[in-house]
This record gives sequence, structure tokens and C-alpha cells, in this order.
Amino acid sequence: MGKEPPPASRWRSPVFLAIKGWIKLGVNPELSGAVRRCHYMINATPTLVLIMSMFYLPIFLCLGNWALARTNVLQLPISLLGIAWFRYLQKRKQPPHYWKAFLITQSATLVGIISGQGTLLGTHFYFLLFFLTTPLVVPVRDRLGTLITCGVCLAWFIFFHYIPWPAAPEVQALPLLTIKALNLIVLLSASAILFIALACSEDFSDMLENRIRKMAITDTLTGLGNRRLFYSTLARMRSRYEREEQPFCLAMLDIDFFKRINDKQGHEAGDEVLRHVSALLRSSIRSGDRRRPGDRVCRIGGEEFAILFANASLEQAFRACDAIRKAIADTPLESGAREIRVTASMGLAAWDATHSEQSFLAAADKALYCAKHGGRNQVQRHEQATTRHERLEGAGENRL
Ligand code: GH3
Ligand code: MG
Ligand code: MG
Repeated sequence: MGKEPPPASRWRSPVFLAIKGWIKLGVNPELSGAVRRCHYMINATPTLVLIMSMFYLPIFLCLGNWALARTNVLQLPISLLGIAWFRYLQKRKQPPHYWKAFLITQSATLVGIISGQGTLLGTHFYFLLFFLTTPLVVPVRDRLGTLITCGVCLAWFIFFHYIPWPAAPEVQALPLLTIKALNLIVLLSASAILFIALACSEDFSDMLENRIRKMAITDTLTGLGNRRLFYSTLARMRSRYEREEQPFCLAMLDIDFFKRINDKQGHEAGDEVLRHVSALLRSSIRSGDRRRPGDRVCRIGGEEFAILFANASLEQAFRACDAIRKAIADTPLESGAREIRVTASMGLAAWDATHSEQSFLAAADKALYCAKHGGRNQVQRHEQATTRHERLEGAGENRL
């Protein structure tokens, strides 16, 4: 819990970005996640067929065997047709169907086999590959579609395996060693595709898991952490305190007179203010790295935020809070023609061994309460809050 997804920096190479751009081309970004990914996969299929044909073409040309080269050239229009077909379907906003992608790959393989390669090179093993990869890329819950696709692929494989299709005479005339080498290349590339499909499907589920994990700890309006992330960070800082005696503090921040903004300028403006304050908070805290834990800011209520200052004494956290308070007061939100100014009050407490999570939050809350009563737009520390609380209580002026 609280662990953020790893950065996707390894996917930033220009080649990858170009492929990604090509696959996404024409797909409506407003489609729901699963349907959009289905479109991507369908877009990628004829492109993969095209890449495979391009991969074999120079090998076949080097062998100087025109019959073999012809079988490959015949596959090119199928992949190009597939690309054009899928773009056309997307333009017409037609729902994606996996079988269309499988139809393209199967047609290209069939054309290769029937037009001259026969089963001599082992190309029919691609059908076994399609049989294995189908459940990896097609949602298995789409039972009928998956079963039909798997069944057809397996049937083609069994058919060609037990009833060999003769290769063109020029292909049969190739030296035995060349045929064996081509067999090996076909099997190796089939295994490579299977490996890539497996890796992609794992990356895909990792990506989904990361996205879900991130959603579970993120506040939708502001993009800050939510209450769940707050508690998990608190638990982590607490255990670091117990292990290494690393001090940490909690600040509760509440926007002053926020209700007035909603009442006078509307709920939309109120939301904008929340995002504005969140951006200021995010830019004001220290981010961590592998060696040093960072601070954490979470939205824990309507216009209430909690900041956990890692490895900070009360004095250090107080200075950071006061800088945040000043930044909020001095940075108005430019919203269209108007300017919205807000201030915030903060209550600060330092963790010590006598605290429980509950008493720690109560301490910071008490300090916040004191800051509100002290006139707002200020930071109060828990010790001061206690003193003032006791003073007021002693004077029979129990307003806190
Ligand atoms: P104080 O200075 O004492 O904190 O006064 P306040 O007006 O800020 O406090 P109060 O608790 O009375 O008002 C908080 C308001 O925040 C009430 C609620 O309508 C508003 N609010 C809560 N969540 C949201 C939100 O997500 N968006 C918007 N726009 N307003 C919200
Ligand atoms: Mg409040
Ligand atoms: Mg408030």
C-alpha cells in the first residue's frame, strides 16, 4: 500500500514512441479503456504481419529463390489490406472484433503455405502459435469468440501437420541444409512472437494493476493522495520512527472561509480553488528518493489536507508550514477575469512515542482549531495549542 507505480522511462525510446503512435492512430481516445486497447491490438496485428513479411523477404531474396520470394510478396497486400480495413472500421466507429485480426494473420499464413512454401518450411506452426496466443490477447470470458478462434487455429495446424501441403518445385529443390535452416528460422520467430505476446500480456496486467492501485490511493479532484494513502504513509513513518528514531510531523491544513467561495462564486470555482491549493502544496513539499523518504500531502476531507513531514523536527516542519501558508496567501488563483484569494490555517504536531495514530491526529486537529480561533491564516504548533487550550480552560473560557 502506498507504493507508487514505477516510472515508464524504459518505454521512452523514439522507435517505441513511433510504433505506439502508429498503433494509436485513428483510435478514438474517448473510448473506454478496454475497448480502446482492443482497437490498439487490432491495429497492431496487420502491422506485425507486415513486419514479419519484411523480415523474411530479404532472407528469401538472398537465397535467389523467386518462388519463395513470391510467397512472401503475396502476403504484403493482405497486411496492407488489413491496415486499410481496420482504419476504415475505426473511422466508421465500428466495434473492434478480435476475429478480424486473426483473420488477417491466418490469411497471410495460408497464402504463404498455399502459394509455394507448403509445409516444408514449418510455416504451419504459426497456427499453433495463434492457438496459444489467442487466450493471451482475447479476453477468455468472451468464451464463444475465444473458442472459435482457438478451434480454427488448432484445426488448421492439425490439418497441415498430418496432411502436408506440397511446396513449389523450386522450393523443394533448395538444398536440405537451407530447408533445415529456414525451418529453424520459422520456429525461432514463432517462439519470439510467443515470448513477446507473453511479455506484453504481463506488462499489460502490471499496467492495469498499477492503474488500479494508483486509483485506490488518489483523490480524483486534486490528484493528491487520499485518506487511504495518508494512513499508509503515516504507518510507514511511524515504523521508521520506531526503527531509526526518525522524527516526523503532521500538519492539518484547512482553507479559511471556503464555504463563502462556494456560496459566492459557485461550486466550480470552489473546485478550482481546491486544485489550485493542491498544486501549491504539491510543489511546496520535498519529494523523496531511494535514500531519503519524502513528505506526503493528502486531501483528507472537503477542503482539508494533511501533510506528513518526513525526517523533520517540529521547528523544521513549522518553517515549512509557514512558507506554505504564505505561498497560499500570496498566490491568488487567476480564474478567467477574476482573481480569487484564499488563506489557510494549519495545525502542527510532532510524533512521539506516547502517541497513537488517533491521539496524533487529535493533537494536530487541536492545533488547527487553535489557529482558526486565533484569527486564521496562521500556523499553530501543538504545544502552543495545548497551552492556549489550558489557559482558556483555566479562565473558564472553554471555546476550544
Ligand atoms: P473555516 O474557515 O472555519 O474552515 O470555514 P469554512 O467555510 O472553510 O468551513 P466549512 O467547514 O463550513 O465549509 C467547508 C465547505 O467545503 C463546505 C462544503 O460545501 C465545501 N466542500 C466540501 N467538499 C467540497 C468539494 O469537493 N468541492 C467544493 N467546491 N466544495 C466542497
Ligand atoms: Mg473544514
Ligand atoms: Mg475551512
